[in-house]
Formats: sequence, structure tokens, C-alpha cells
Amino acid sequence: MKSAVFFERDGIINRYPTGHTKPLPPTSVSDFKINEDVIPLMDKLHAIGLKIFVTTHQPMLATGELDRRELERMHRIMQAKLPIDDILICPHELSDQCSCAKPNVGLFKELEHQYRIDMDHSYVISDKWQDADAAHILGCVSLMLDSPWVGNGHRDYLMSSLKEIGEKICFLHQNQTVMMVS
Ligand SMILES: [Zn+2]
Repeated sequence: MKSAVFFERDGIINRYPTGHTKPLPPTSVSDFKINEDVIPLMDKLHAIGLKIFVTTHQPMLATGELDRRELERMHRIMQAKLPIDDILICPHELSDQCSCAKPNVGLFKELEHQYRIDMDHSYVISDKWQDADAAHILGCVSLMLDSPWVGNGHRDYLMSSLKEIGEKICFLHQNQTVMMVS
């Protein structure tokens, strides 16, 4: 079984459009700005053998404020720059009470089964409490980037930069590999 890193998209891979006080996701390619810091981070995690997944909640698909084809264009840009193995999207509003809007674990479970992922030795990177809660339920290690929406719930690590998060995962994964060999 393989270990994986599950990336939240908005706020980690792409920056939020400026001029908003809420974490509002981009609705057009011109607003979709890749955070350059995520490129060396993802390259490094991919290079040490981790599967790279993106999970994202896009409720504006349900309301029609976000066009599916525009979203696909954004994701093609993302995949051209980054070594992403798969992207799963929850397209529902919270009022739909689906099983895939985080902190529900539907998206993670689908990836776990499809790619035979060892969740106990996998990692979740996000700036939102919903991902930390999901990671806690799944038994993954959560590494949270400090943000106004990170919350006060359970998380394994709260860090101030993606660089620190990358170093921590490399350290944890290396030690894990050593322990599994011996
Ligand atoms: Zn959903």
C-alpha cells in the first residue's frame, strides 16, 4: 500500500482572489493563481514516492456561479504545473447534506479505495478546520497552514509556511519508512 498527501485546493494550491475577506474560490481562469510555493513542495513529496491528491469543495457548481468547463480549464493549468495523481471535487451545497463535503470523508474514502492508500501513513495539508477534522476521522496526519479559518479543533501540526509543512512530512515519512523496513 502507498502513502499519500491530500491537498486542499483553495488557499493552498491557488491563492484566494484578492479583495475578499472570506475564502472565496476563483470562478474564472484569470482569477486562478497558483501559489508558487506549492510547486517545490509537491515536487519534493512526489519525488519521495508519495501519491499526490487534491480534494476540493466547489458548492458554486451547484448554484451555477461556477461553470464546470471553466473549472476544468483551471484544473488543466494546475495539472500542467504540478505532479497531481488525481483531483476529486464535491459539487454540492452544504444543504444537500452529501457525504463528500468536508469534514465528511467521502472524497478521501474514494481515493483510498481506488489507489489502495495506507491512510495511517498519509497526510492532509490544508488551511481549514474541515480538512483537519476529516484527517482525524481517517487517521491521517494533519498539517495545517495557519489562516483565519483554521479553527481550534484537533490537528497534528499547525505551521506558518508550506516549506515547514514539506520538511515535516519528509521527516515523518522517512522515519516511517525506516520503521517499516526494520
Ligand atoms: Zn458533496
